[in-house]
Amino acid sequence: HTFEELGLPAEVLKGLTAMRFQKPSKVQEKALPLMLANPPRNMIAQSQSGTGKTAAFVTTVLSRVDHNNHTQPQALLLAPSRELARQIEMVIGHIGQFLPNLGISAAVPGSIPREGGRVDKTIVVGTPGTVMDLIKRRQFDVSQLRVLVIDEADNMLDQQGLGDQCARVKNMLPKNIQILLFSATFPDKVMKYATQFAPNANQIKL
Ligand code: AMP
Repeated sequence: HTFEELGLPAEVLKGLTAMRFQKPSKVQEKALPLMLANPPRNMIAQSQSGTGKTAAFVTTVLSRVDHNNHTQPQALLLAPSRELARQIEMVIGHIGQFLPNLGISAAVPGSIPREGGRVDKTIVVGTPGTVMDLIKRRQFDVSQLRVLVIDEADNMLDQQGLGDQCARVKNMLPKNIQILLFSATFPDKVMKYATQFAPNANQIKL
């Protein structure tokens, strides 16, 4: 299979080509058709780091966002640390480099908008605590969000604190949002929670 066969927007294809990604990796080949299908369905994907999972969810996010309507956030990506959020942001910037209206807001400790400032980019990458604060303070309008990605879901949905924060964030989001959970491992306990967090999800495992 090729990226061309997936029906990706031309700008996203161009971004993948610029990255010199010649064909989808295994996880991309399995997950992308499922994540891009309509109507959108949730995904629980288990894949080691180094297998191309970041590009898999970034490609999906970039393809799901309506880049002509770029005044409100449409995608939210959550990661356990500021560093990982930053890495995801960079991958979005690279694969999305040909999208004319691409905007990314970081919602991590230390980078939040000044008092009253709003998160106004189409894609938001952040850590759960900061994202929750911004939503509560009404600096982040979640009403137009259509996709939620949780990277390192084993960490994010397990640790007492983070799991709690992720659940509280999710409860504030539109009910029909597409949820994509990615992780290198899904221990039984986490998988049980993941299937509640992302109901009726397609599941893939590599
Ligand atoms: P990740 O699993 O997200 O940590 O990605 C591992 C590495 O694989 C990164 O350096 C990516 O740039 C690279 N990569 C992702 N997708 C592809 C692809 N389709 N072809 C070649 N390299 C890729």
